[in-house]
Amino acid sequence: MGAGPGDPELITVKAQRLLREAGAILYAGSLVSEACTLWASEGCEIADSKGMTLEEITAWLISQASRHETVVRLQTGDPGLYGALIEMIQPLDAAGIESAVVPGISSAFASMAAATESMTLPEVTQTVIFTRVEGRTPMPAGESLCDLARHKTTLCLFLSITLLHKVREALLAAGWTENDPVLVVQKASWPGKEKIVRGTIANIHEKCRAEKIVSQAMIVVSPALGARNWRVLKKSKLYDAGFTHRFRKAENRL
Ligand code: SAH
Repeated sequence: MGAGPGDPELITVKAQRLLREAGAILYAGSLVSEACTLWASEGCEIADSKGMTLEEITAWLISQASRHETVVRLQTGDPGLYGALIEMIQPLDAAGIESAVVPGISSAFASMAAATESMTLPEVTQTVIFTRVEGRTPMPAGESLCDLARHKTTLCLFLSITLLHKVREALLAAGWTENDPVLVVQKASWPGKEKIVRGTIANIHEKCRAEKIVSQAMIVVSPALGARNWRVLKKSKLYDAGFTHRFRKAENRL
């Protein structure tokens, strides 16, 4: 189940209800512990999976499922993004345990909201790529950051804040320039903890170092960054007075 990006108020109503009903909750690290403290019922068994292997996690879930009707695995953001979701579901399926996935607000969305940025902008970019740079997990063929960055769309880079040098190399090789803007948001949506750093491909590494940002951060590279301050903007057709759609007729401008 997704806990959202960090702000306890950004958990879904459904997830909140399930936390209340849960007999046991296994949460992933410090990012989501607060949601448990806030919503879990008294007597609920709560554990942190930080030091556990995948086998230990699934063993814990399976054993709790034999005692409780509702057992929750709580993860940051949305469980379908870098959440080892399928690796955890398969052993549950094999054990005949019924499961369901509850989506959550990803940190990519919280990061953009924190900085008042839009992932898409008319006639600038209409596509978003969620990716990461290669770390210990190898990237499948055709998915290197250099390959993806050539599209010049919005790129949200997870799990890459310690690899900013690789990000820079890949972006430059893909045709971006040193002056192109980069946004880094650490602990997006965390009350009192969120940090927003704006820079360029050339200086973002240095700026993050100065702010001591080495974990829990989203990197966004996009031709739409900073659009809030642009004087000339292609407006969305949806709200254009001359554009007819299902709910509104175009004005006659003759
Ligand atoms: N499922 C999560 C992502 C898990 S991978 C989601 O949908 O958000 C962990 C990575 O997510 C971190 O390395 C960081 O890049 C990003 N991340 C998680 N929480 C974050 C937050 N509150 N602010 C910024 N980035 C965050």
